[in-house]
Amino acid sequence: MGSRRDSTWILGLPGFRVVTIEEAETRLQIRIERRGVRRYVCSGCGRGTGRVRSMRDRTWDDLPWAAHHVTLIYSQRRLVCRHCGIRTERIDFAEPKARVTRRLRQHIGVDCQSMPTSHAAVRHGVSWGKARRAEQAFLSEWDRTRPRQRPRHLGLDEIQRGKGQRFWTVLSDIVHGEVIGLRHDRTEAAATALLTEDVTGRQRAAITAVCTDMHRPYLNAVAAVLPKAEIVFDKFHVLQHASAALDDVRRQEFFRAGAVMREHGRGKRWLLLRRWKTVRGSKRAELQTLFAANRRLFKAYVLREQLDRLWTYKTRPGVLNFLLGWIRALRWQRLPEMERLGDFLFRHVEGIAAYCDHPVRFGVVEAINTTIKAVLRRARGMRDDDMLLLKLKWATAHPIRSARDLMRFLNVQPLYSNR
Ligand SMILES: [Zn+2]
Repeated sequence: MGSRRDSTWILGLPGFRVVTIEEAETRLQIRIERRGVRRYVCSGCGRGTGRVRSMRDRTWDDLPWAAHHVTLIYSQRRLVCRHCGIRTERIDFAEPKARVTRRLRQHIGVDCQSMPTSHAAVRHGVSWGKARRAEQAFLSEWDRTRPRQRPRHLGLDEIQRGKGQRFWTVLSDIVHGEVIGLRHDRTEAAATALLTEDVTGRQRAAITAVCTDMHRPYLNAVAAVLPKAEIVFDKFHVLQHASAALDDVRRQEFFRAGAVMREHGRGKRWLLLRRWKTVRGSKRAELQTLFAANRRLFKAYVLREQLDRLWTYKTRPGVLNFLLGWIRALRWQRLPEMERLGDFLFRHVEGIAAYCDHPVRFGVVEAINTTIKAVLRRARGMRDDDMLLLKLKWATAHPIRSARDLMRFLNVQPLYSNR
């Protein structure tokens, strides 16, 4: 073993030196002690004192030394503080009840965001439980200490988790593309709780628009909590209704029209629901054959495609005029499904036209939903809602974008700090 001075240098914990190093069960057990003057800091008030009442060995898992996992041993003092009574001394390299050092926690926390907890646990030589607790502490601290944004636009959306009808409501900041909060159910109470508890009054004051679907409980909650904010209907949801109407036309035209036509329309559902600009080559030809067989389906398809233009106008009267023209074009077409869609859009035209004044970023709404689905797929068995929310926040906020960000999270101590 090298000199203790070298070992202290390698350990790199400011204010501590290595006393002994022993090998025990594939781990290095490194006993450390404070350097210099023996003043201990009270964990209650942060004041220093020299009065020690007792001491007890505690251990922390730490970063590995080359091929060896490391356990630190330190005799933590119980102090007699003039202000707090008997308290333990404060340790700077770990959180009060943690079993791993802060720097190991950072490594585990970062790793867990790109690999399963079980893999991170093996990599760092700790148990699954320790890794999970380290990850939770890592994410909580990140969430607690980062600056609070004041987004102009919020997104209120539902997600379905697992099979069956378990719905959750998600509140997100669609300016920065981050999840803010999560609640069970998709009730008015859930939405109200999100808007009042997960957003501060200062943040609420900055909100000008909320992007959501036409789900009535959500609309009620927004109207009650944010009377000044306007509702902007999510383009994706509006177009989903349009696609459903188009699908009804397909069913009507092909499946209730005898066996020959039915054979013709079989297996075309997904093709038909795709947007024209995303259909390529032979698939386009396939669609054209389908349209040649049924003009009404073609009409309905074109009408659906035109709806995109609802979001291209700069003024509300422009949107209204377009919609009225669209509805007028339906006359004499005998497409009751599309007429119903026209009525539906007309009833919701205010929330569609609100986009003129509040150009929310629909693409961000979509991106958030995609990320949420990816996290949920990976976290299938996760029972802990707080942890799930933290993981969603991390995945959508995407805080590590460069090597420098990573360095900041791993919080590497400069090597010379202990010389
Ligand atoms: Zn104290």
